[in-house]
Amino acid sequence: MPAKSDQRGGPQSQSLLQRLRRRGWRLTSQRRVIAEAMEGEHVHLTAEEVYDRASPRLPELSRATVYNTLNQLVKLGEVAEVSLGSGTKRYDPQTAQGHQHLVCERCGATRDVHPAGADRLTLPTAERGRFKLNRVEIVFWGVCSNCARSPDPST
Ligand SMILES: [Zn+2]
Ligand SMILES: [Zn+2]
Repeated sequence: MPAKSDQRGGPQSQSLLQRLRRRGWRLTSQRRVIAEAMEGEHVHLTAEEVYDRASPRLPELSRATVYNTLNQLVKLGEVAEVSLGSGTKRYDPQTAQGHQHLVCERCGATRDVHPAGADRLTLPTAERGRFKLNRVEIVFWGVCSNCARSPDPST
């Protein structure tokens, strides 16, 4: 994660598009539809899903542009790359500090959470010299209320 730590995040923080405007990032129509595809809360899309949402609004948009733009947004620190235990890269426009994820094991519904207490894990001293830490990802697994109400299909 980049060293940018002055961002006061929270559920009410500015949208990705607003943040990009504020920092003066050149918003071409391609970049704009990509940022708009990631509007809203609890958004954790794969690059392919971003493309599926953005391309109807801008048919000339290419997958390569979507991938490149997402990589640039990650480098800028405006989008976080998360895997949520699946190994598939997902892009998260919510970059507030201490933000982790709550995932339903049955339907995959993913919510942003700000855990109390253990959100600042410290790498053991012995590992610090050998390993350059880039990010920490914590996933809380469970069953969402929708799934809890219906019988488990796997039993
Ligand atoms: Zn569920
Ligand atoms: Zn998230």
